[in-house]
Amino acid sequence: MGFASKELADLAAKRLLRRMRVVSRVRGARVTIDGREHISFASNDYLGLSQNPAPRQAICDALESDGFFGAGASRLISGTTDRHVALEKALASFKEAQSALLFSSGYAANLGVVTSLADADTFIAADERNHASLIDACKLSRAQVHVYEHCDHAAASRALCNARGFRRRLLITDGVFSMDGDIAPLKELADAAKRNDAVFIVDDAHGTGVLGEHGRGSPEALGVEKNVDILVGTLSKALGCVGGFVCGAEETITLIANRARTLFYTTALPPAFCAAAITALGLVRESGELRTRLRSNVALLRGHVAHRAPVSARESQDERGRAVGDGNRRDGAGEDVTRPKKGEEQASSSPIVPVVVGDERRALEVAEGLMADGIFAPAIRPPTVPVGACRIRVSVSALHTAEDIHALVSSFRRQGVI
Ligand code: PMP
Repeated sequence: MGFASKELADLAAKRLLRRMRVVSRVRGARVTIDGREHISFASNDYLGLSQNPAPRQAICDALESDGFFGAGASRLISGTTDRHVALEKALASFKEAQSALLFSSGYAANLGVVTSLADADTFIAADERNHASLIDACKLSRAQVHVYEHCDHAAASRALCNARGFRRRLLITDGVFSMDGDIAPLKELADAAKRNDAVFIVDDAHGTGVLGEHGRGSPEALGVEKNVDILVGTLSKALGCVGGFVCGAEETITLIANRARTLFYTTALPPAFCAAAITALGLVRESGELRTRLRSNVALLRGHVAHRAPVSARESQDERGRAVGDGNRRDGAGEDVTRPKKGEEQASSSPIVPVVVGDERRALEVAEGLMADGIFAPAIRPPTVPVGACRIRVSVSALHTAEDIHALVSSFRRQGVI
């Protein structure tokens, strides 16, 4: 047997083999897979903007007037067009920041930001459930990383306080955690960063466009926008587009633009997509209506699905590919993996609703059961989530109707999950 087939067989035996579902048609919250229509709870297009006529038209208009679609080069060569600059201005204005910088994805933005600001003489305190891109960014930076228990701001503060002698300290967290849907205690974390002279970095990929009265994200929702030093976001979720961005003080952004290899060594976003993102941003700014619809869908679902929050007790650092230097992290062996941890009680406003079901076998079984009932919602397994905390990750959208949500709830009930 070749190495690939051996390793694939190993993954299959552990029920960790992934397969891509091919979506052939999208209409509202309906997707067609294998010729059959399903209600999708698997997309991060929380406001349905990827299908909205205005950004779609903006792409067509831009293509028509530009006469090209590929940027042709990286941002620092010839890939920066007036559309990139206009989008950066729009993002900075939306987030009320001095400056913004676009990347080709949120993943690239996180890698670029962290590796620009951290090196071997940097100490990073990072939440144990940060997104994989932040984990990879921390590793790549070669900084000393302390992974603190989920949302434990006191632990983050202690770690920063004990980290003497480093050139720089960073505190890095997701705003909304992508697999748990809970919101970081940003106020307390910002205070901890300030007390310890650390740069506070928040990845608000899932909060942007969704949370806060004006959709500016989790820092707006928690009233701490001015206390976040660097905010990373993505255009690929509520804005329905593609691309990542970072906002912050002008000099910090200029420094990142001078250092980020994920900016230098990759082709710029297609300019027509920048036009779409500007239009989508306008919709987010103007229309609280989509957010209101989303919130009422979220409330409806959360009313039925008890928040069975996971914890990361049994995973090991290696399993999740955690960053180095985690000397203080508790392994938590024996903890109840369904017991909520700090911060998870305040999850109710986010559109990510995890329904924790147990092991890999059960998660796959429930996902198949959902498919049989005409519902598409993915089973999430390690290393994305802790061992024993496999789940169905439900993504609610403004496109869902109350009937869609009731169909999901009925399927969960039929399967004995809730
Ligand atoms: N940060 C978080 C918290 C995410 O969930 C994601 C995407 N899953 C990213 C960053 C990466 O964003 P993108 O898809 O734009 O690369």
